[in-house]
Amino acid sequence: MKGLADKPSYIIELLEGGVTLEDVIDGHICEQALVEKSAFVVGDLGALMRQHACWQSVVPQLQPYYPVKSNSSPAVIQVLASLGLGFVCTNKAEMNLVLEHGVPPENIILSGVCKQLAHIKHAAKNNIQHLVCENEAELSKISRLHPSAKLLLQLTTEAHAAETSMAFGCSLKSCRHLLEAARELGVQVVGVTFHIPSSCQDLQQAYTHALSDARCVFDMGVDLGFNMNTLDIGGGFTGSEFQLKQVESAVRPLLDAYFPPLSGVQVLAQPGSFYVASAFNLAVNVIGKKVVTRHWDSLPQGENNEDTEFLYYMNEGVYGPFSRKLLGNSITAPSVHKHVLCAEETVYPSSLWGPSLDQLDQVVERCLLPELSVGDWLLFSNMGACGLEESTCLSSSPQLPIYYTVSTSDWYEMQEAGVALDSAMKDFAMVQYSA
Ligand SMILES: *Cc1c(COP(=O)(O)O)cnc(C)c1O
Repeated sequence: MKGLADKPSYIIELLEGGVTLEDVIDGHICEQALVEKSAFVVGDLGALMRQHACWQSVVPQLQPYYPVKSNSSPAVIQVLASLGLGFVCTNKAEMNLVLEHGVPPENIILSGVCKQLAHIKHAAKNNIQHLVCENEAELSKISRLHPSAKLLLQLTTEAHAAETSMAFGCSLKSCRHLLEAARELGVQVVGVTFHIPSSCQDLQQAYTHALSDARCVFDMGVDLGFNMNTLDIGGGFTGSEFQLKQVESAVRPLLDAYFPPLSGVQVLAQPGSFYVASAFNLAVNVIGKKVVTRHWDSLPQGENNEDTEFLYYMNEGVYGPFSRKLLGNSITAPSVHKHVLCAEETVYPSSLWGPSLDQLDQVVERCLLPELSVGDWLLFSNMGACGLEESTCLSSSPQLPIYYTVSTSDWYEMQEAGVALDSAMKDFAMVQYSA
């Protein structure tokens, strides 16, 4: 990722004169139909700006720090950087990516439970001061390699532990140890971070526990002479305005009680899915099909549709862009690309599989779809937070092509919103989409 300025790494299609996102998808499906029928992604950059506007209107008191791991595609980083967000990185490559987009080091946090030595050194070299720390081994690495770091202690939450079924973060008791150890080593601690995943059922309870624990750690820190000034309440925002308001109403009274504005504590959050999920659609191709018929003795064979289930194989699965299925998240059923839809088509129970022929590679367990043929296309929405462009993503194609779009009205609005798009867009090769 060097020389962004002289080598645009991506193209944005400006949708003019009533051209819609669907038209763009249709266009790429036609293109793909002539070649390999590879899966591809279409991103709507305007959606990032709309999510930002929603964030600022609902939770203006929470400073958004975008976790790069959610979606590190350069156009996303570019737009979010020009909207003024901070960034949470977990490694050297992610730090370089955001630094190259001109993000000031004070707006970057190096996160991660255990960090490679070289990455801690890289943070020190680049003046990235804020590091997350959750155990003594990390602390001693940081004190050696980055003695001027400002630490955020990662506090465990029940909700997060339940999701990952792993010890994550440190308990209140070990926070005291860690604070004492930090004081002995002369490393500064400036705050607390925690994460409550969006799968959490009882937001009120989860935030009540987490924020009162955080307050305890702040008090312990102050007792030990630390300047505790930063609270990070993590991610867990799905992207819907409704859910953001739910979180806001759970969190606001707690913040008012424990961390009022007068306390001078800066409150951050790490919205990942919130910004990117809805901005990306994935188109995949049906590459195989099987029919399973269950036989009921009492019924004449084949007379009842309920007895027939279609199994479709797609050219991407859980070892690619659907990896969050492996983490227990369900994937919403896709829509069928419209060329194959007739007015009143019968729908059948169907299941959707990735290409690996592996038991785990079931993307959608059961949904109702019209009968599909090999070669048909399926469109999955809300695919922005699936680690696109992550080198660890074992996609069946080396990297899914991503086509970025922005509508002209969003485009003007982005510029009017005072986003430094003039300089940002210098990198963009603008092409007009002609249907
Ligand atoms: C992934 C992650 C996030 C982002 O979560 P979303 O729910 O996608 O916003 C935030 N904090 C931590 C610690 C994470 O691991």
